[in-house]
Amino acid sequence: MGIATEAQQEHKASSESTAAEKKRWTLNDFDIGKPLGRGKFGHVYFSREKKSNHIVALKVLFKSQLKQSQVEHQLRREVEIQSHLRHPNILRLYGYFYDQKRVYLILEYAAKGELYKELQKCKYFSERRAATYVASLARALIYCHGKHVIHRDIKPENLLVGAQGELKIADFGWSVHTFNRRRTMCGTLDYLPPEMVESVEHDANVDIWSLGVLCYEFLYGVPPFEAKEHSDTYRRIIQVDLKFPPKPIVSSAAKDLISQMLVKDSSQRLPLHKLLEHPWIVQYADPSGVYKG
Ligand code: ATP
Ligand code: MG
Repeated sequence: MGIATEAQQEHKASSESTAAEKKRWTLNDFDIGKPLGRGKFGHVYFSREKKSNHIVALKVLFKSQLKQSQVEHQLRREVEIQSHLRHPNILRLYGYFYDQKRVYLILEYAAKGELYKELQKCKYFSERRAATYVASLARALIYCHGKHVIHRDIKPENLLVGAQGELKIADFGWSVHTFNRRRTMCGTLDYLPPEMVESVEHDANVDIWSLGVLCYEFLYGVPPFEAKEHSDTYRRIIQVDLKFPPKPIVSSAAKDLISQMLVKDSSQRLPLHKLLEHPWIVQYADPSGVYKG
C-alpha cells in the first residue's frame, strides 16, 4: 500500500524529524482527475498520489457547508472511526488534510462505483449475488462489532463496489464507537439495571436489522416496509409488517433468513456468525466472498 496512514506518518515523522517538520498531506501531493460524484458537502475526485502513484478517491468538503449544517462533529467521528478499520469489505480511509476553506479525505478508490446504481439497473439481484453480498457485509459487520463500532446506516447508497466486484461499506457518518461507554460501565456494573448492562450488545443488533432490510431489497428490488406515506412506513416497521410478494420468485430459505433478522426484539435477531452458517448463505454465497457476475 503506497499511502501511509496518519498513524504511520506520525510515527515516521517523530522518528525521522522534529515535530515541527511533520509530514502532512497537502493538495500538492495529488494529481486530481475526473470527478467521481458529488455529495451533500462537496465533490469526490479520482486522484493519484504523486510519489507512490497510488490511486485514491479524494473527497473534498467545504468547511463553510459543514459548519452551516453543524456536522463537523459527525465528520470528525467518521474520520476517527473509519481510519482505524482494516477490512476488505470496508472502504479504507487513508488520511485527511485541510486548508482554509476545505477538508480533504483520502479514500480507497472503489472502481465499480455505487451498488445503488447496479440495483436500479438490474431491478433485483439473483440469490447468488444477494447471498454473496450479504455474507461479505456480515463479515465486515462482525469485524466492526468486534471493535465496538456500530455502523447504524447500512443501505445501498452507502455501499460501493471495488474493482473485483467486492462490496465496500462507506460512509461512517452515523456510526458510533461504544468502547468508552462499555469501559466506563465496567467500574459501576453492580448498580446497573439489566437493560443498561445489555444495551451495548443490543445496540450492535441494529446492524442485523438493517442487513435484513438490505437482503430483502437485494432480492425484491424494494425495501420491505416501503409505503407512500412516511407514517405508514413507520407503522409497518413498528408492527414488523413483513410480506413476501409472489414475484420475483425467492427461495423459502432466503425468506427464512430475512424473517430471522427482521425481529422486533433486538436480542432475538439472528447473530451474524449464525447468519454465515444459515443454509441459504451456505448454498448461495460464493465462497470466494466476491460476486463475479
Ligand atoms: P451524501 O451525503 O449525499 O451521500 P456524501 O457527502 O456522502 O454525499 P459520497 O456519497 O461519499 O458523498 O460521494 C459522492 C459520490 O461520489 C458517490 O455517490 C460515489 O458515486 C462517488 N464516490 C464517493 N466515494 C468514492 C470512492 N471511494 N470511490 C469511487 N467513487 C466514490
Ligand atoms: Mg454518501
